[in-house]
Amino acid sequence: MTFEELRAMDEAYVMHTYGRFPVDIDHGEGATLYSLSGKKYIDFTSGIGVNSLGYGNPKWIAAITEQIGKLGHISNLFYTQPGALLAKALCTRTGMSKVFFGNSGAEANEAMIKVARKYSFDKYGKGRSTILTLNHSFHGRTMAALTATGQPHYHDYFFPFVEGFRYADPTLESIQAQAGEDVCGVMIELIQGEGGVRPLDKDMVQALAKLCQEKDWLLLVDEVQTGIGRTGALFAYQQFDLQPDVVSFAKGIAGGLPLGGILTNEKCAGVLVPGTHGSTFGANPVSTAAGLAVLDTMDQPFLDQVQEKGDYLRAGIQALGCPELGDVVGMGLMLGIDVKGSRTNQELAALLIDNGLLCLTAGDRLRLLPPLVITKDEMDQGLAILKQTLAG
Ligand SMILES: *Cc1c(COP(=O)(O)O)cnc(C)c1O
Repeated sequence: MTFEELRAMDEAYVMHTYGRFPVDIDHGEGATLYSLSGKKYIDFTSGIGVNSLGYGNPKWIAAITEQIGKLGHISNLFYTQPGALLAKALCTRTGMSKVFFGNSGAEANEAMIKVARKYSFDKYGKGRSTILTLNHSFHGRTMAALTATGQPHYHDYFFPFVEGFRYADPTLESIQAQAGEDVCGVMIELIQGEGGVRPLDKDMVQALAKLCQEKDWLLLVDEVQTGIGRTGALFAYQQFDLQPDVVSFAKGIAGGLPLGGILTNEKCAGVLVPGTHGSTFGANPVSTAAGLAVLDTMDQPFLDQVQEKGDYLRAGIQALGCPELGDVVGMGLMLGIDVKGSRTNQELAALLIDNGLLCLTAGDRLRLLPPLVITKDEMDQGLAILKQTLAG
């Protein structure tokens, strides 16, 4: 099939919910991708923070192949090994108590919202169900996760919304101004990803954690984008010296298969009981086997390398001295670049992709989320494309 044939078929039959770049991807290795016609791309996107081990990772492929040959799915009515092993690995690595598995980030956040509301109901009864979230946040596309998302433009068309959400700026004063007897939790991203790679201030987050303790609000941390090694720790909350009550994860956990979920601490471990929550595909054996391969790969030296690679990439971008590029923000391999000059971040991303470097945008910034296994050579190739594109 040619690209033109593929594009025509996609346009004819696939719902137009995405603005796609005029590029197809056929296969890849490491952090390098190839189109049907053989055009090469360096990948600074990892499928929006998903393909943490890049493409063609032998350990990941072996884990999936072995599991799918045995059992692809059976439902949560029965015990299966991979989900239990992955839950144990996640709890052991974080000190958290329990895991619930779903399939996506939005679904993970829905579970997080349900934990917060039921925790509060069990303890205080009705009327304490409001969750505070932050402006510029992104928590997903399902109705409650969409309501939680603090960006008005996502709220067009789809009213009425789920009750019980209020929005604050990422300052303690603004959060306190939204406080009330009706609040049961505060939901935050430590680096707001879709909102423009906006890191929260560590002192503010620490103060917020204290406020949550005082008020018995659950501290709900959405690590769908920041989690699973992306920022140079298994979870970004570890770098913020936090002890969240619930943490959601998804994107990078299974290295490219659909999987998401939440981790809860001991206080919230027993909130969801049989009949209160579920997911048919949740803890799918193939996805959780893939997750085990991902987690097994992410030992401390691997995470240290994510940090070093992030530093290298950041320094490399700054050393380009491009007048169109401003500050580089973010942590580990989750980076945002300020864009100056007359071309927008969207226009620059389109040019870079045309020149063989896949990259993302978020807010007004360029956003880079390379596979965590990216090599120095691949980063150098990406930097060369940046340089050549921005010189032209
Ligand atoms: C991507 C993302 C989500 C939504 O994840 P889906 O898998 O697309 O449902 C939620 N929260 C954050 C922080 C994200 O980056």
